[in-house]
Amino acid sequence: MAGMAGAIRLGLVGIGKIARDQHLPALAADDRFVLSATASRNAQLDQVAAYPDIDAMIAGAPELQAVSLCTPPDGRYAQAASAIAAGLHVMLEKPPAATLSEIAALEAQARAKGVTLFTSWHSREAAGVAPARDWLADKRIDAVRLHWREDIRRWHPGQEWILGPGGFGVFDPGINALSIVTKILREPLLLQSAWMEVPEGRASPLKAELAMRSGDAAVTADFDFLQTGPQTWDIEVDTDKGMLKLSMGGSVLELPGEAPQKAPDREYARLYDRFAQLVAAGDSDVDVRPLQIVADAFLLGERRVGEAFSF
Ligand code: NAP
Repeated sequence: MAGMAGAIRLGLVGIGKIARDQHLPALAADDRFVLSATASRNAQLDQVAAYPDIDAMIAGAPELQAVSLCTPPDGRYAQAASAIAAGLHVMLEKPPAATLSEIAALEAQARAKGVTLFTSWHSREAAGVAPARDWLADKRIDAVRLHWREDIRRWHPGQEWILGPGGFGVFDPGINALSIVTKILREPLLLQSAWMEVPEGRASPLKAELAMRSGDAAVTADFDFLQTGPQTWDIEVDTDKGMLKLSMGGSVLELPGEAPQKAPDREYARLYDRFAQLVAAGDSDVDVRPLQIVADAFLLGERRVGEAFSF
């Protein structure tokens, strides 16, 4: 981030948990980017020009070339639209927006303006995902099971937005599993049925189960946001050559008869690498398939009301 000549001058928007945990270290380690400004209502960083919101940042920092949005998905459309209108390249945290129509509109705006739009899916960059995809390429896939069970209070303390409208609830982590399976399976993923449990007085679910298909394979998902004790982010794929298992969110890969493969976490380094490449090539990468499945679950799924929840 040392301000190399030619580095992309980037503004980071929404300085919360993921910005601090992952985006700042990844940017600091990548000399193709220089962090020029931040936009956050309640947070600022030492030595970096700080603005309360993206419009103030765009007005006050005309040197910016790109923005990376780490705000909650509901509200990102207006932020991304402002950035695109100002001629800035845009990288979006997952889920890329609150609705599919927002993403379609942003894609058209980015194309018209000639800037890069990148809907990032960090879990696809987990170490086991690309080798899993390669291993599955010539296998018959019989069944796929996604188990994504984590403790909302531990990973999202006080994030009231996550249970609000457009907060996705348990689909906020669950969409990471969907981003991996849409990457590793050859056939399109189609939702067949779903149910979800929304706590009384909230808009988004704490639990959901999905039944899907990919070609001839049944794909099931169980998403639980109230898992205490051991946390589970596993994907099991039954094939004609045995079971493939991805665990720890895709970072550990187990193939039949082999020792588990594990590599250091480089998810966000790889996302910024991809963003730099897209900007250099003048391309966009807009993949909404994980969001489509979540939207389909809201269209097709049975809603149950569960017990009230507080953080
Ligand atoms: P967070 O801790 O709540 O941070 C989001 C930040 O956005 C807030 O600190 C807030 O900063 C700003 N913001 C702007 N408008 C807001 C609004 N209407 N409501 C709440 N905050 C608003 O959330 P996060 O965990 O970083 O998640 C942000 C995005 O990253 C989500 O899409 C999430 O899925 C994704 N993500 C999170 C994780 C994780 O481990 N938490 C992992 C991967 C991806 P100001 O108050 O200063 O404006």
